[in-house]
Amino acid sequence: MGKYYQQEIETASRDQIITRQSELLVKQVRHAWDNLPYYRGKMEEKGVCPEDINGIDDLKKLPFITKNDLRLAYPYGFRAVPESECVRIQSTSGTTGKRVIAFYTQSDVDLWEECCARAIVAAGGTKEDVVHVSYGYGLFTGGMGLHGGSHKVGCLTLPMSSGNTERQLQFMEDLGSTILCCTPSYAQYLSEAINEKGIKNRLRLKAGIFGAEPWSEEMRRDIEAGLGIRAYDIYGLTELSGPGVAFECSQQTGMHINEDHFIAEIIDPDTEEVLPYGRKGELVFTSITKKAFPLIRYRTRDICVLNDEKCPCGRTHVKMSKPMGRSDDMLIVKGVNVFPSQIETVLLELGYSSNYQIVVDRVNLTDTIEVRVEMNANNFSDDLGMITKMENKVLQALRAMLGIGAKVSLVAPKSIQRSEGKAVRVIDRRKI
Ligand SMILES: [Zn+2]
Repeated sequence: MGKYYQQEIETASRDQIITRQSELLVKQVRHAWDNLPYYRGKMEEKGVCPEDINGIDDLKKLPFITKNDLRLAYPYGFRAVPESECVRIQSTSGTTGKRVIAFYTQSDVDLWEECCARAIVAAGGTKEDVVHVSYGYGLFTGGMGLHGGSHKVGCLTLPMSSGNTERQLQFMEDLGSTILCCTPSYAQYLSEAINEKGIKNRLRLKAGIFGAEPWSEEMRRDIEAGLGIRAYDIYGLTELSGPGVAFECSQQTGMHINEDHFIAEIIDPDTEEVLPYGRKGELVFTSITKKAFPLIRYRTRDICVLNDEKCPCGRTHVKMSKPMGRSDDMLIVKGVNVFPSQIETVLLELGYSSNYQIVVDRVNLTDTIEVRVEMNANNFSDDLGMITKMENKVLQALRAMLGIGAKVSLVAPKSIQRSEGKAVRVIDRRKI
């Protein structure tokens, strides 16, 4: 089981957790009402005032915040303390529309880093470890978050940032990195490079903490085998702080949510009705400790399931499943809902690597979907008849999974462009 970073909090009873959440929620709603005219307006519209909120049971009375609200109130509309109290901003990558700018007080930064520290401890980290942070540094929260968490645990921290793979491998070998933190697609890229150079047995890596993009169980097995490590998932959003909102424990069966800082709800994304634990729906978070950027009932767009069954690791905080897709990422092809993660599952099950691309287009008013995937050393062929056979096999598996036909193209190893940040898996030409 190992040593917990904050045993008293992480193994509190459900009653203690709910009492704490209720107290903090009441204070946070008052803070938002007093300091965020935008949110106060939303509350007034719904006819609810701070006096109506006496505990967690009243949460459902409060209005939601969406990414669109953050855009409308950009850049200061959700900053709830004077600028002189803020010490940092971080920002989303802004792939769709305006970036979100999140503000932090020093205490907000401390709490965030504490959450990341818990994730490192849960992955087996102690002050004896060398933490190799290959998430991007800068506005992106990945690098700064795990970096701060690593300091808090007392690990030797290597602020590598992403890119420059040669240097990554050299430091990994020369300084004996034991825990790697980066996006799962970059972990896979590093794994390929390490195995190509044949230096795996010269490394001391034992664990990895990977997040910031969706990845499947098959991809986990791929990375674990390739690097000879245990690969742990971590979840977070810039809007809520960054990575560390939830993290995996030794069980690797879902991520414990740091419920002393966040209240999680699952709602039906269409009706907005709150669903019980165990039901699949959209994840909604309320941050109850953040001062500078206190989001109440923030709709994450991530589709997942919450699980409050007892975890053998001893932690009592509820677990969230890996997001099964984002309502934003969901593609509607020929009227059918398609999540890229479903396609990835099929490809990895059939022994392909996760170097693939999905191209959606519309030809003569009909949607088309093409899945391009690289062959690898184990299944490579240059016999056209053989390739057609292999493509048909993928096609049938995709049809079984998705219920629609797709064009499948097997391409040569390393012909799909690699990414050192977030991988570009989907190209939707219908939107161009
Ligand atoms: Zn656990």
